[in-house]
Amino acid sequence: MTAIDLLLPAEPKAPGTSHLAQAWRNATSHCIKCGFCLPVCPTYSVLGVEAASPRGRLDLMDAVAQGRLALGTVAGRVGQCLGCLACETACPAGIRYGQMFEALQCDMGTQRRGWRRWRARLLLDGVLARPRVLRAVVLALRVYQRSGLQRLLRSSGLLRLLGLAGREGRLPPLPRPLAWRAEVEFGAPPGTDATTTGGAQRAALFTGCVMDAAFGAVHAATAHVLAANGVQCALPAGQRCCGALHAHAGETASARRLARANIAAFETVGDAPVVLNSAGCGAFMKRYGTLLADDPAWAPRAAALAARVRDVSEFLAVRTLVPPTRAVALRVAYDDPCHLVHAQGISREPRDLLRAIPGLTLVELPESTWCCGSAGSYSLQHPELAGDVLARKMRHLAAARVDVVATGNPGCLLQLALGISRQGLDVDVRHPIELLAQAYP
Ligand code: SF4
Ligand code: SF4
Repeated sequence: MTAIDLLLPAEPKAPGTSHLAQAWRNATSHCIKCGFCLPVCPTYSVLGVEAASPRGRLDLMDAVAQGRLALGTVAGRVGQCLGCLACETACPAGIRYGQMFEALQCDMGTQRRGWRRWRARLLLDGVLARPRVLRAVVLALRVYQRSGLQRLLRSSGLLRLLGLAGREGRLPPLPRPLAWRAEVEFGAPPGTDATTTGGAQRAALFTGCVMDAAFGAVHAATAHVLAANGVQCALPAGQRCCGALHAHAGETASARRLARANIAAFETVGDAPVVLNSAGCGAFMKRYGTLLADDPAWAPRAAALAARVRDVSEFLAVRTLVPPTRAVALRVAYDDPCHLVHAQGISREPRDLLRAIPGLTLVELPESTWCCGSAGSYSLQHPELAGDVLARKMRHLAAARVDVVATGNPGCLLQLALGISRQGLDVDVRHPIELLAQAYP
């Protein structure tokens, strides 16, 4: 009997009526309780209790799926999960933990009511899913940062008083929205069907929401590297947020709406590969086929788009890289985004890109495959636990004595920057593609 079994009530409730019950029925393998996943679980390492481990959470979800526990009684413990999927990588039995966790989140999302539901919808549907609104918000925040108001509020202590100091401190210096597009020459007009135009290879760039608004320099760098490697970059109109944050919050209808918009947008460039520089978006868009599997009109289109999605490191790995010539003399540690290493199985490719840069020294960071605590909106919902997870990462980073830590996901870029500023480390945070772009004159 595990510690979790002790929590289970004797009387079963009506089973089989939820996303979780459905996911449990469809599961092809079951937990053998070996515990191999425990040493890799960041929340178990912090909290040290079985219920905060992958095995414990699976037990809890099993109990909900079978109707032995009510959803509300496990929401706290399971909700502390980062969704980092390190347990899936470690599991010898092939448990698809992520599917169970996602189904549970979906059930939790449908039960969310009142202010919490309204707040989630406002952020997800009212801001992230609307590029113009998001740009207006970024513009307002940029004015806040550059007008002196930020300095004033920080020194006044008001942010601390309102409990906003940590959240406000996450913001990087924001660029003017869409300014990066002026730096890039886009090719390949929409409507053509070939993957080559005049001998040049083609790719379509996915810009996303947060990445586009706050990390335009990464998009510019991506287009620069692609151009240096003879790949013409298209920017299909009508693309939107990928929908990952919506799905993780249980707002599946919104996620499906966004997926349909993206499928239609990228169909305008024929079958050109869809290149991304955000690990979270890539992991989610590769699953569009599953997301829309029950929609006969969209299922084949969703599967076709999912098959075209490539992380930029993955896209470049199958080509012979044009050797970069400009030296970038920096010591760089690479930190694996969970949604790249665990969700997409990509870890060698970004390292190979960094190794190709002349003068750059790649330093292996201990526990680089451990979550940094960002995990979508997790760091906002569980700031203390996310802070503990981040502190562990910062200890390794401080010992590595590097100039730069490189990672390929907007949430990780923000979270690592926050940890570095908290610890007072003299380390820059960059996307690997930015370093590679620097090496192409
Ligand atoms: S997804 Fe990550 S945090 Fe959640 S149980 Fe698995 S290893 Fe632990
Ligand atoms: S590694 Fe897999 S099978 Fe073993 S306890 Fe963890 S989830 Fe269960």
